[in-house]
Amino acid sequence: MSSAKKQFTLIGYPLSHSFSEKYFTEKFQKEMLSNHSYFLSPLENIEQFPDLMASHPDLVGVNVTIPYKEKVIPYLDEISEEAKAIGAVNTIKIKDGKLKGYNTDVYGFEQSLLKFLQKKSKKISVENALVLGTGGAAKAVCYILKKIGIEPILVSRNPNKGDVTYEDLDCLIFDECRLIVNTTPLGMLPHINTFPQLPYNRLNANFFLYDLVYNPEKTVFLIKGEEHKSSIKNGLEMLHLQAEKSWEIWNEE
Ligand code: NAP
Repeated sequence: MSSAKKQFTLIGYPLSHSFSEKYFTEKFQKEMLSNHSYFLSPLENIEQFPDLMASHPDLVGVNVTIPYKEKVIPYLDEISEEAKAIGAVNTIKIKDGKLKGYNTDVYGFEQSLLKFLQKKSKKISVENALVLGTGGAAKAVCYILKKIGIEPILVSRNPNKGDVTYEDLDCLIFDECRLIVNTTPLGMLPHINTFPQLPYNRLNANFFLYDLVYNPEKTVFLIKGEEHKSSIKNGLEMLHLQAEKSWEIWNEE
C-alpha cells in the first residue's frame, strides 16, 4: 500500500454524532493505516462543498448524510446507475480530480434484508411490503424491494406523497403486507417513545418488521412486533454493510 496521505470525510449538517467517523477511525487503527484519517465536515450549506474539496487535496473519499444526499449531486462529475435511479448519493470517490457518487445504503439494505427474510424456517412468501415514510431512505428501500420482486406500498402522513396515509391504512392492506419497513426517524434517540401509528394488534408470527433506525437497538416499533411474535431487525447491520461497501469503492482501482 502506498504511504501517500489519504483523507476521508463526512459531510452533513448538523453532525453531532457520527457512526462513520468512529467506524473508520477504528478501522484505520486496527489495520495500521497510519496515513489514513477521517474527519467531520459539518457544512452549513452545500455551496461550501467545493471549498472543502479545494482545501483538502488529500481527500479520496466522502460520506454524505442528511441533508445533502440529493443536494450534492450537481457537484459530481459522474454518478452510479443505482444512485441515479434513487436520486441520492451517500458515498463519493475522488480519483484524478474527478468526483463519482454512489449509493451504498442500497447495498446495505439488500444484503441485510435478504438475510433477514431467509432466517425464518417456515416458508412465508412476501409479495407486498409497507414502507413507512417517503424520504431518501424510503427511495433506497423501494428500489431494492422492487429489484427482489416485492411490491412496496408507501405510507405517508401526507396524502399527496405516499400510496396511503396512516389513517387510511385499512386492515386488508395491512394483512397482505408481511414485511413492514420503517424508514421514518420515529423511535430514534432522543425521541425513543415515538412510533408509527399502525394496527399493531393485527401482527402475528408471519410478519417481518425491519427498522432502519439502530439507536436504540429496539425501537417501540420493534418491541411491539416482538410482543406479537413477529420477526424483527434493526438497521445496524445495514449501517455496517453500507460503510464496508464505501470502503470497497474507495479502494477499487
Ligand atoms: P428523512 O427524509 O428525514 O425522513 C424520512 C421520512 O419519514 C420523511 O420523508 C417523512 O415521510 C417521515 N417522517 C419524518 N418525521 C416523521 C414523523 N414525526 N412522523 C411520521 N413520519 C415522519 O430521513 P431519511 O434520510 O429518509 O432517513 C430515515 C431514517 O432512516 C433515519 O432515522 C436514518 O437515521 C435512518 N437511516 C438508516 C440507515 C442505516 O444504515 N441503518 C441508512 C439511512 C437512513 P412523510 O412526510 O411522507 O410522512
